[in-house]
Amino acid sequence: MGFSRVANTADLPPREAMDFDVVVVGAGPAGLAAAIRLKQLAQTAGREVSVVVLEKGSEVGAHILSGAVIDPIGLARLFPDWRERGAPLPTPVREDRFYYLGPAGAIRIPNLVMPPLMSNHGNFIASLGNLCRWLGEQAAALGIEIFPGFAAAELLYDEGGAVAGVATGDMGIGKDGKPTDRFARGMELRAKYTIIAEGARGSLAETLIARFDLAAGHQPQKYGIGLKELWEVLPEVHRPGLVQHTLGWPLDNRTGGGSFLYHYDTNLVSIGFVVHLNYENPYLSPYGEFQRFKTHPAIRPVLRGGKRIAYGARALTEGGWQSIPELAFPGGVLVGCAAGFMNVPRIKGSHNAMLSGIAAAEAVFAAIAAGRLHDRLAGYRAAVLEGPIGADLRPVRNAKPFLSRFGTRLGTLMSGVDMWLNTFLPGTGLGYTLKHGKPDYATLKPAHACRPISYAKPDNELTFDRLTNVSFSATNHEENQPSHLKLIDSALQVRSEHDVYAGPSSRYCPAGVYEWVEEAGEARFVINAQNCVHCKTCDIKDPNQNIRWTVPEGGGGPNYPGM
Ligand SMILES: Cc1cc2nc3c(=O)[nH]c(=O)nc-3n(C[C@H](O)[C@H](O)[C@H](O)COP(=O)(O)OP(=O)(O)OC[C@H]3O[C@@H](n4cnc5c(N)ncnc54)[C@H](O)[C@@H]3O)c2cc1C
Ligand code: SF4
Repeated sequence: MGFSRVANTADLPPREAMDFDVVVVGAGPAGLAAAIRLKQLAQTAGREVSVVVLEKGSEVGAHILSGAVIDPIGLARLFPDWRERGAPLPTPVREDRFYYLGPAGAIRIPNLVMPPLMSNHGNFIASLGNLCRWLGEQAAALGIEIFPGFAAAELLYDEGGAVAGVATGDMGIGKDGKPTDRFARGMELRAKYTIIAEGARGSLAETLIARFDLAAGHQPQKYGIGLKELWEVLPEVHRPGLVQHTLGWPLDNRTGGGSFLYHYDTNLVSIGFVVHLNYENPYLSPYGEFQRFKTHPAIRPVLRGGKRIAYGARALTEGGWQSIPELAFPGGVLVGCAAGFMNVPRIKGSHNAMLSGIAAAEAVFAAIAAGRLHDRLAGYRAAVLEGPIGADLRPVRNAKPFLSRFGTRLGTLMSGVDMWLNTFLPGTGLGYTLKHGKPDYATLKPAHACRPISYAKPDNELTFDRLTNVSFSATNHEENQPSHLKLIDSALQVRSEHDVYAGPSSRYCPAGVYEWVEEAGEARFVINAQNCVHCKTCDIKDPNQNIRWTVPEGGGGPNYPGM
């Protein structure tokens, strides 16, 4: 399905076109690693390869939100001398702690019982956004053109139907779909190969997966929503290098998720909460659960006297090994979380994002060097599955299905046994691969079958209301533009989302974009699109797949400082 921002495109002037060898969509770790590796290979071979990277954020890093404990395996492949070059990984991990929380207490799970792959020894705590800013500088120094503030809105195809590049969105289209005095036509960026690095639930990636049937024969992708606040805490409670994870309270045993809390740099604590998006109760608010989590007696003291300096949210992929789609389509490849290389038990994806960018660049460079274009790079998938990404994801492939089937307590135990078996007998585990079941949009139960959940009022010291927190994401969109959140059938939204499910969009959206208001006895759906932090949860969780996330005008969205 395609959504045009303009009322009548036929009246518009033609787009200008630029030709490149490779277009990369998205300046996250995957896209930047791909671009950098392409230039490195070209330099080594003594030839020219032109590479452009498009980024919808106002600058590189503006839309990046992650934990982040970073496994430097991908970075070290790209730049073995990353330390000397000054990569911003300020804090080595010194200690791992895991807790199971009850409403008033916490049980520490001994590190000895945790499968070794979950140890963070050798990893670093950092801001992934800042790492991307640094990677952007390295890329620019290699001659890569980076266009921040430009969203890739449309795919271009050649006569044979292969992808031949992308077009950026038109700027200056008014709410009414007509050009305003700011109007500037989008550009066509044509390429021999197009690398899609949009991160979790990419909008072009979704189009490609549907058009080329890339998910056929694979399990559906699964997702979580991750909410994060960055805090500056009092020096006396700061433990640089401490990595802490929790399971359990405030989520019930049927709802997957947990928290992270990372102490790094100078008095910074990255605190966040992930809720698996296969939750069932439409009354659940991931944002409300996150705020509630911070009030736990084991967590509150860390934040007391400190201040929250940033907030944001982003979906993450959780399908892992069995949900990896076909990765190559005619004319390009999917990399990073646009394909879904997140390791759920390790809560890490940035290392695989970089490794996949590197593998994609190697496949693309070989094809260009052989004089090819717009074909399907079949070898890339094998490089991913048989290389370090496969070795990372395969042993943990049953973790998420165990949680979905058996709940947090038994599911964690069973996935622990499976991961231990894989440790002693690599590649064995339980000997088979579990399926994920339904996609996340299909897991909500009707409201009448669920109990309403009430959330306490924020105290504005430890807990905050959503809109105040959104102001700490520095989100901004040009007001006079068509909504980038497309409601396909408004009658269905009332009939089902409101009447059957009691309006879960008003709770799952971490930015308060969706509201149901009563007018003259009728329910009206309101979309405050300007608040959107581009997390993509609505695109994933709407029970009828009736909301489509599309790119707004380039440069719009959050402006995360060091998330
Ligand atoms: C709360 C949370 C905690 C996490 N914790 C960790 C952790 O501790 N360690 C770890 O390793 N990983 C962690 N991850 C996962 C990690 O962040 C991802 O695996 C990683 O960011 C994926 O990289 P990517 O380059 O594929 O996508 P992204 O990082 O999402 O980057 C995609 C980029 O593409 C841009 N883009 C998207 N669409 C378009 C378009 N159409 N046009 C132009 N630009 C576009 C986006 O603005 C963005 O800048 C976490 C994720 C979350 C949400
Ligand atoms: S509107 Fe959708 S993408 Fe935007 S913040 Fe809300 S749930 Fe996330």
